[in-house]
Amino acid sequence: MSGALVSRRPPVACGDGSADAAREVDRLARRLPEPLAPLARLAWNHRWGWTLGAAEVFARLDPDRFARLGECPVWLLRDADELALLRAAADDELVARGTALAAELDEELARPGVELFPDGRPAVFLCAEFGLHQALPIYAGGLGVLAADVLRGASDLGLPLVGVGLLYRRGFGRQSLDRSGWQREHWPELDPRTLPLARVTREDGAPLVVSVPVWEREVSLHVWRAEVGRVPLFLLDADLEQNGPVERWITARVYDGSPAIRLAQYAALGVGGMAALRAMGIDPAVVHVNEGHAALAPLALAAEAAPGLPLGAALETVRDRIAFTTHTAVATGNETYPWAEARSVLARAVESLGFSWDAFSAQCRTEAGEQELGFTPLAIRASGRASAVARRHARLVRGRFPDELPPGGINAIANGVHLPTWVAPPLGALLDRQLGPAWRTHPDAAPWDAIGEIDDVALWAVRRELRATLVQTARRRATADLLLRGASAGEVAAARQMLDPDVLTVGFARRLATHKRLDLLAHDPDRLEALLVGARPVQLVLAGKAHPLDDEAKAVAQRTLGALRDLGRTGRLVFLDDHDLGVARTLVAGCDVWLGLSRPPLEASGTSGIKAAANGGLNLAVLDGWWREAHDGTNGWVLDGDDALPADARDARDADRLLDLLEREVAPTFYERDARGVPVAWLAMVRRALRTVMPRYGAARLLSDYVRLLYAPDGSTGAG
Ligand SMILES: *Cc1c(COP(=O)(O)O)cnc(C)c1O
Repeated sequence: MSGALVSRRPPVACGDGSADAAREVDRLARRLPEPLAPLARLAWNHRWGWTLGAAEVFARLDPDRFARLGECPVWLLRDADELALLRAAADDELVARGTALAAELDEELARPGVELFPDGRPAVFLCAEFGLHQALPIYAGGLGVLAADVLRGASDLGLPLVGVGLLYRRGFGRQSLDRSGWQREHWPELDPRTLPLARVTREDGAPLVVSVPVWEREVSLHVWRAEVGRVPLFLLDADLEQNGPVERWITARVYDGSPAIRLAQYAALGVGGMAALRAMGIDPAVVHVNEGHAALAPLALAAEAAPGLPLGAALETVRDRIAFTTHTAVATGNETYPWAEARSVLARAVESLGFSWDAFSAQCRTEAGEQELGFTPLAIRASGRASAVARRHARLVRGRFPDELPPGGINAIANGVHLPTWVAPPLGALLDRQLGPAWRTHPDAAPWDAIGEIDDVALWAVRRELRATLVQTARRRATADLLLRGASAGEVAAARQMLDPDVLTVGFARRLATHKRLDLLAHDPDRLEALLVGARPVQLVLAGKAHPLDDEAKAVAQRTLGALRDLGRTGRLVFLDDHDLGVARTLVAGCDVWLGLSRPPLEASGTSGIKAAANGGLNLAVLDGWWREAHDGTNGWVLDGDDALPADARDARDADRLLDLLEREVAPTFYERDARGVPVAWLAMVRRALRTVMPRYGAARLLSDYVRLLYAPDGSTGAG
């Protein structure tokens, strides 16, 4: 073949990584005794996490090791004890169940999907974080967990969705508090080869490399594929030998503290993500920019669809294919950057797409004027349809960008959580008996009213079981936290006995940003103590991480926990280090009351309260975000959501009101028992919470709104 021909040849063809994933599954299966081989398939697809009975199969293989390995089944199968594997291979029941579950997965993957767009084209969902599992810590909080729930929900519905994100080798950071209560972080490095991730390779066997100009350099990115049921998630990775040390750092940490690195991350996500899709032959019908971080993706799509046109005109040609969801009402979520810094990082990426920096900067002007580059304004201007995460949030966004609204407007699409993932197994089993299995698979057709008939005794038994599990987990983790901190033997011994499985349990666990107002709890420690040790006692379980550079939030947490330190001696108050998906699942299921204390109107939606309600927890939350729409006077309690008073006055008022409610309404209702020892009025509220929240705030409803309002309005394909 002549040199000229070779150089004119298109780049080596590349599949979409499914063959690479299949190869990794085979490799894992070959390490196992033959009867256990189907478990490799099951473990490798994240769908195991919402497959009834799958966790039990892995736990049965080697319970201690499964727990130790953070309940990551691929790690378990890679590193299981030889003897445990042989024992499991001889365990007929385990083998039969594992084989049946793998067959169920095969069937699910073979099921025909929804033809939303012509030619089998997908919608692409780009997000800076995905919270799939604690073993893959590439998420910071609610946004990432929701993004993962979107992929899971799309898989269940058979929607043609593809996820794109970044593979942060060092995650968001593990957290522990030092003796003074100050948050410290460390960033253990992830080895993606040990996880259910497959490096996408080209047909010649070499890894796919896409390249994005950042600063003055070309940054090479590899692409990893994860399987989330039927939905693939592609993660870009800059930690390659051919990149310099700074470029390699681009995908090191979630929301890195350096603004330059963060801008580089967004170039990798938006421009690199679209290049990766093109290389894999994936032609998106719709590009869903999930939060502003991915706002460069529309530029890449426009460059491809309308080469040679100036930016404004090029964006116009693809506008109908761009959907945008904004998730936050606080400034740090709507990041802005000084022009000079943004230019030094992004100019070459923008120019490589054929657009001028001036045209680009005109699209990124913030509402404040010309001072800073903003990704939210860019995404709003580029999109044809957009959504905010609750009605009040949508009004706020419309008010901030009155002249820029996309033709499809800013829709209010309330967040939803993936119920089969978040409903704890004991409650799930009760719902299966009461409603049939449709609530998992076809929530729009489930007989939700039957929740009203759930028997008090059965429901109370489930709630007690979930609380007891939480108490066990909290004791174990608190003991380990204290040992790490070098606490006294007395403190450690006390931690092993702390909390009471029969005491009203109140939880607060979320990202520790100052507007989440953890400090309301320390407003009146004496009054709180009286509540903890009173005749109708309350116990508090707290958790949360501050962003590593958010010293203000760390100081608030340190002050708050310091003020509450003496209360810890009651054994009824604990702060758990290193809040992650694993702890979150136990907390949202086991708490009787879930606190939402954000300063209004800053909780755009909030999702942890939805998870709690879907487990029969009752929200006591500021009338803001999702709760402003979901509260109906029968399913929980509210704190005022107005934003008229000055912040200090509001904080004092809300702190008082919180204690008032706990003393006068929450505790009395919880402890009022009938002859069977059952809190009848409480359980009536629990049923109301389940009934009102589960159908309306599930991922299935969220996805059907995305399809209807963002992807294919009026049944049109949305493809331009
Ligand atoms: C759901 C969830 C969140 C989001 O909580 P908010 O209510 O939005 O504050 C954060 N972290 C984890 C681990 C979660 O599961």
